[in-house]
Amino acid sequence: MLRGIENRVRRWLFGRDLAVWYAPEYRLPLSNVETRTGFEPRRADYAVWYLLESNAIAGRNLRTPRRAEYAELARVHTPELLDSLGRAETLARIWPVDPSDLPVDEMMTTFRLACGATIDAAREMVAPSQRIVGRRALNLFGGFHHAKPDVAAGHCPVNDVAVAISALRVEGFRGRVLVIDLDAHPPDGTAACLAQDPSHWIGSISGSDWGSLPGVDETVLPEGAGDEAYLTALDALLSRMPGGDLAFVLAGGDVLSGDSLGRLGLTLAGCRERDLRVADALFRVPSVWLPAGGYARDSWRVLAGTGMALGIRSRMPIPKRYDPLAAKFSAIARSFSPAELDGDADLGLGSGRSKLFLGFFTAEGIEHALHRYGLLPQLTRMGYGPFRVEIHDEGVGQSARLLDAPSGQVLIELVAEKQRIAGAEMLYVHWLALRHPRAHFSEERRQLPGQDVPGLGLAREMSALLLRMAVGLGLEGLALRPAAYHLAYRGRESMRFVDPARQGRFEALVRDLAGLPLGEATRAVMEGRVSMNGAPYKWEADEMVRWIKPRPDDRLAIEAEKQRVKFEVA
Ligand SMILES: [Zn+2]
Repeated sequence: MLRGIENRVRRWLFGRDLAVWYAPEYRLPLSNVETRTGFEPRRADYAVWYLLESNAIAGRNLRTPRRAEYAELARVHTPELLDSLGRAETLARIWPVDPSDLPVDEMMTTFRLACGATIDAAREMVAPSQRIVGRRALNLFGGFHHAKPDVAAGHCPVNDVAVAISALRVEGFRGRVLVIDLDAHPPDGTAACLAQDPSHWIGSISGSDWGSLPGVDETVLPEGAGDEAYLTALDALLSRMPGGDLAFVLAGGDVLSGDSLGRLGLTLAGCRERDLRVADALFRVPSVWLPAGGYARDSWRVLAGTGMALGIRSRMPIPKRYDPLAAKFSAIARSFSPAELDGDADLGLGSGRSKLFLGFFTAEGIEHALHRYGLLPQLTRMGYGPFRVEIHDEGVGQSARLLDAPSGQVLIELVAEKQRIAGAEMLYVHWLALRHPRAHFSEERRQLPGQDVPGLGLAREMSALLLRMAVGLGLEGLALRPAAYHLAYRGRESMRFVDPARQGRFEALVRDLAGLPLGEATRAVMEGRVSMNGAPYKWEADEMVRWIKPRPDDRLAIEAEKQRVKFEVA
């Protein structure tokens, strides 16, 4: 509470004119990008939700992007390149996903919105102003620095920074532009795009050596370089930086330790310090900040941290246990009127006029909830809809199905009932399938046990929604028996096995199979190729729970079992 007030005061002091560009469409319309690249498609969502909730920014700081026009893109990129972006194969190659899983128009909408925002942010920053200190803008998607005039590469179809600079030049802006590229990879595309620009300087710190980059003040740090080495190099770079009239800062998230593509080893505190030092160095220079890469679970925290640095100049860490989806869904639930999810009170249970899921939710109420919590908008972008929800009684429990009405195909199937588990009333999930029938299995995306088609990439949203259903039913949490290793693995951050020893064996299994891709690890367990302390190991589908009010783990018992067992793959 006090923190909220303090942040509001700091926001007034430091960030009241910070422009934050964001659209829900910044989320890539891809179902498999997280598994394939480690990129968190919800990064911009998580960051903006957290910044608003923590009062680091206010609603009036937000700006709505427009799609960049092809006339703007064509100032930098060749017709051949722009033409190729209309084909799923081109975009699938740079992301990299299977072309069957790539809706071209929606994908380009995401990138054109980000690009339009970078252009308009830059325009706003150089517009005449009374202020003597530099104004700042943060675009929550952008910094596509690997795109060259004629080549799309490395997650970058077009180069938003170069397109924005060319837009300003056409409008008569003659000032010197600074590009401070702090992504973990070198700005090869930006250097190529800006080669003809009359007045610019590019400074960069990377963790990968891609050879010499003409026109770039490039520092390559050794693999694993941490906060101290990085900040020393940053101070040196900033001391060499010339004066400028507009800056673009690529505050890359892939400098974070453990990133799957970046090779540096910064902590979250180190990333925040980086941003504060750059912001100080640009005190008088208007700047546009962009997130660039980030391929770790916590990369959204780097981006939210950039917003904390710009909005309230704060070093306060984002709480480790903070779950952005759970927080957002709980806020949406508070905004629901109680009558929206459940059946009409007048109809009641026994009227027979409307079947209720778990005695509470109507099909209409479930469909509306799927819309409000953002699942239907994402499915629409993936090419599905209009939708229909059906409720049926099953042998055990009841099913609720979301169907794609035109094809009649099932997209989401939930079979559940109320059950007493671990001494508490729980929402027990017998079966949950998230089906993406338009996508195909491929060498990169192999079938997992229990799948007939690839998944939708919405498991986190569905889990948060199930938790809201449990709250609505007055239950204490969610429970399920994971039929295979990958199901327990995916739920491991919020769910625990009821039995501490079972949890210990599971954590030991995660530890010992860490070197294997998830699908391969799952198959190894299912096919009996894993041994525990030398004896064949059979998957134990015991009860896992997620409490609405989190309960402390019995860490002692968990650790004891975890140390006792050792798994090996034959
Ligand atoms: Zn990168």
